[in-house]
Amino acid sequence: MIFTVAIDGPAAAGKGTISRAVAGRFGFRHLDTGLLYRAVGVKGGDPARAARDLTPKDLDRDDLRTLEAGRAASQVAVLPEVRAALVAFQRRFARSEGGAVLDGRDIGTVICPEAEVKLYVTASPEVRAHRRWLEVGGDEARVLAEVKERDARDMGRADAPLRPAEDAVLIDTSAMGIDEAVAAAIAVVAARLAGT
Ligand code: C5P
Repeated sequence: MIFTVAIDGPAAAGKGTISRAVAGRFGFRHLDTGLLYRAVGVKGGDPARAARDLTPKDLDRDDLRTLEAGRAASQVAVLPEVRAALVAFQRRFARSEGGAVLDGRDIGTVICPEAEVKLYVTASPEVRAHRRWLEVGGDEARVLAEVKERDARDMGRADAPLRPAEDAVLIDTSAMGIDEAVAAAIAVVAARLAGT
């Protein structure tokens, strides 16, 4: 069976947790596409070359989840050559046999517009910054500034800007616990699998 769940949205909205839970529930494979951009961002040198030469080992680095890696990712993600170099791998993953969940910024709009399920997971900047701050610590005002800066860059870029696909189901997690958000996502996927 070929079945793609595309999960897009801004940083720290809950995409990662929801994606892992959906993949686990239905036995689908999961790709966190942000890791690809983070690995390119931290690699240094020419970003287009880094994207073309990316290997699975680059995704194993333990510094990919930092705020700095997130910022570096969103800087290289504006470059069309970088995005182009990562498209084929993501498309193959999305349409491989057995079902796939991909989370990112442009999965439902660019990478896999034919996805069987598209979710757009979001929350207010303040809620997202607070969640990220609980993970990384430091100065919460600085984390909020980073979140807003990253939103502006991701939504404002010319190539594959962050926006909901027209047929995406919106899940706003601002006032939801994670269990509720996961249940909402699983319900959408289950309904589509049941053909309703
Ligand atoms: O989701 P995550 O925070 O790991 O993504 C890091 C950055 O990578 C994002 O801010 C965005 O600029 C970029 N990205 C992207 N397209 C994707 C996934 C991530 O441009 N599909």
